[in-house]
Amino acid sequence: GQCVTHCPVGALTVRRDIKDVYDALHNPDIITVVQVAPAVRAGFADALGVDGEELTQGQMVTGLKQLGFDYVFDTNFTADLTIMEEGSELIHKLTHRDEYAWPMFTSCCPGWVRFMKSEYPEMVDQLSTAKSPQQMFGAVAKTYFAEKIGVDPSRLHVISVMPCSAKKYECSVDEVNVVSGVRDVDTVLITREMLQIMKMDNIDLANLEESEFDSPLGEGTGAAVIFGASGGVMEAALRSAYFLLKGENIDPDAFKEVRGFTERRELEANVDGTVVRCAAVSSLGEARELIEDIKAGKVTYDFVEVMACPGGCAGGGGQPINDGEERGALRGSRLYQLDRDNKVRYSHENSEVQILYKEYLEKPLSEKSHHLLHTHQKDWVY
Ligand code: SF4
Repeated sequence: GQCVTHCPVGALTVRRDIKDVYDALHNPDIITVVQVAPAVRAGFADALGVDGEELTQGQMVTGLKQLGFDYVFDTNFTADLTIMEEGSELIHKLTHRDEYAWPMFTSCCPGWVRFMKSEYPEMVDQLSTAKSPQQMFGAVAKTYFAEKIGVDPSRLHVISVMPCSAKKYECSVDEVNVVSGVRDVDTVLITREMLQIMKMDNIDLANLEESEFDSPLGEGTGAAVIFGASGGVMEAALRSAYFLLKGENIDPDAFKEVRGFTERRELEANVDGTVVRCAAVSSLGEARELIEDIKAGKVTYDFVEVMACPGGCAGGGGQPINDGEERGALRGSRLYQLDRDNKVRYSHENSEVQILYKEYLEKPLSEKSHHLLHTHQKDWVY
């Protein structure tokens, strides 16, 4: 994504999106709903010249509320939901091994999905059908949440704050972004644009009190926040897959070998007697090498996580830039700290996600879950 924000076309997109958000905020008929991606909270403070430890997620939430958003929600909520769906998909495939091609690849990074679809179209069916947390959020907001507050979905404007411009393209695909006749995600702002709007509105982030995300799409676990770091999606999925198979929790740090930066990390996870051969990478060059190794029969994996940016979304192209200094690793370590500090570190223990299943979706991979939260990967390209 980084080049897009620096080219003339990208600049136009940026201006249009900021204007869209202002228009929505000032339209009395529109209810604005904002979601903030995991990686954003680890990176936004860098632009303000303060230490990430000093400027908190709670102050960022207050800043968004002061801008006038009606509901400030957390993409971590749907990161947990993604884990419930993708973890269940992995288990389903593992228990019907012969019916599928292997490995299964994660699908939450649009940079990677686009690369896979253009470079290795014959493997597209191996992408998880789970939509990304950004897209699951939009689908749930325009259905479940709209019903809950008794509002027609056309009156909701869903804004995402994301670490990269690739997320702007992700919601331009109708097959992914329209489940009930309206666009699920309306506008995507990158982290730098969020800060720009706050600056224009004279929001003094550093001196704000903290506040909590709103409910019911605002709860996120430690497993969700590490989505923003390379290896995090895999680790979160394994924590919950273990529970789904065995009915009890494993130590949340049991799969920490998949943490790291760009180099390939491998792990053989024993999930209740089922060995899951895993690998995680975070650059498209590494992804290409990994796929070529699979094709050459040099390696065999069951589950592979790929993120396009070095270190994952923490190092995304829409994050603040500090004089060319690479901050992805530092931001990733902040996310792991947030995971350790969270009282709940398993996606299946997210109480708002549990309520969503109980009241609306029924269970992972149900018909309704499929309709709202999954996509037929082979049906569309970017
Ligand atoms: Fe965007 Fe990079 Fe994250 Fe992929 S890894 S979703 S391209 S920030």
